[in-house]
Amino acid sequence: MPPLEEILYSGQISEGAPVVEFERRFGVFVGSPHVLSFYSGTAALHAALVLAGVRPGDEVVTTAMTAEPTNMAILHAGATVVWADVDPANGNLSTQAVVDAITERTSAIMVVHYGGIPAPLAGIRAAAAARGIPVIEDAAHAFGARYDDRPIGSHSEFVMFSLQAIKHMTTVDGGMLACNSAADVGKLLANGRKFRWFGIDRDAPRTEVDVASVGYKYHMNNVTATLGLVQLDHIESVIGRHIANGRWFDQALENVAGLKLCRWERRAEPSYWFYTVLVDDREKFSRHLAAHGIASSQAHKRNDLHSVFASSRCKLPGLDTFYEQMIHIPCGWWVDDQRREYIADVIRRGW
Ligand SMILES: *Cc1c(COP(=O)(O)O)cnc(C)c1O
Repeated sequence: MPPLEEILYSGQISEGAPVVEFERRFGVFVGSPHVLSFYSGTAALHAALVLAGVRPGDEVVTTAMTAEPTNMAILHAGATVVWADVDPANGNLSTQAVVDAITERTSAIMVVHYGGIPAPLAGIRAAAAARGIPVIEDAAHAFGARYDDRPIGSHSEFVMFSLQAIKHMTTVDGGMLACNSAADVGKLLANGRKFRWFGIDRDAPRTEVDVASVGYKYHMNNVTATLGLVQLDHIESVIGRHIANGRWFDQALENVAGLKLCRWERRAEPSYWFYTVLVDDREKFSRHLAAHGIASSQAHKRNDLHSVFASSRCKLPGLDTFYEQMIHIPCGWWVDDQRREYIADVIRRGW
């Protein structure tokens, strides 16, 4: 029987052995021996913040150039969102802006690898370490990316991956949290497991257990984990296609008038979830592509414009520049050689 059918007919569909096996194999892929699974990336981020010691009223330094879940999770933890500005060359946090945003009340730094381009981890991690502040990476866009010759997932105290429908790898929904903090990882993982299941220690006899902290219903189930286990067998070719297309566009679009490519540190190797370009007159560019049957989008609204984050508003000139010019063109596994030639050709004709 195919694995999914097998698990469905087994009757054992909630959290069990396949979840544990999926956490282990996922960890091998992202270079972290300690991975906790969740039903969504947002739940994993909420857990990361609480496990990192973020308490209500604390400040978390973060970016507005991301999907809403990054920053909604900070509100779930009861903390205050503090925006740091981004590098207009790629939309990722700038190290200097993070340094400037840190205060006495900062208890975590949230880093997003926008579009799959690794953020300047060395600089940000050094700044955080100097103040004893943990770093949480939102790597929802960066599964398969690398930094300093190691997979994203192996660097920071916490690294979250999303398995939502449109990510590099999907289980329909799901989230994974790599936990790399050295001090007492066993206790950390036990707390994480309690956090994702009503505060209950599942290993203890149910009537003897004492629930001492608030927990949620955030765990993954065997059906989701089975989808993940099957996908892991094929994921390298999927990510490989994103990367091959991205690198091809890096060359093909190098000298196009009115268009700038993103730039990043040499030690960073993107996994090209998006292919982001910076263009003059974005509306015309987008209409030109649409007229030739090519989709393009901005994908995200800068989060500082939402009223739920109104009290965090501040000047972000780097983001202003990036947000005015950025647009994403297709570069995923569904783009074949012929299609990418066509996309580049249409762009080179001008808009
Ligand atoms: C998809 C995504 C998440 C998490 O999303 P879930 O749907 O909860 O898995 C978080 N951050 C970013 C940047 C994302 O794109």
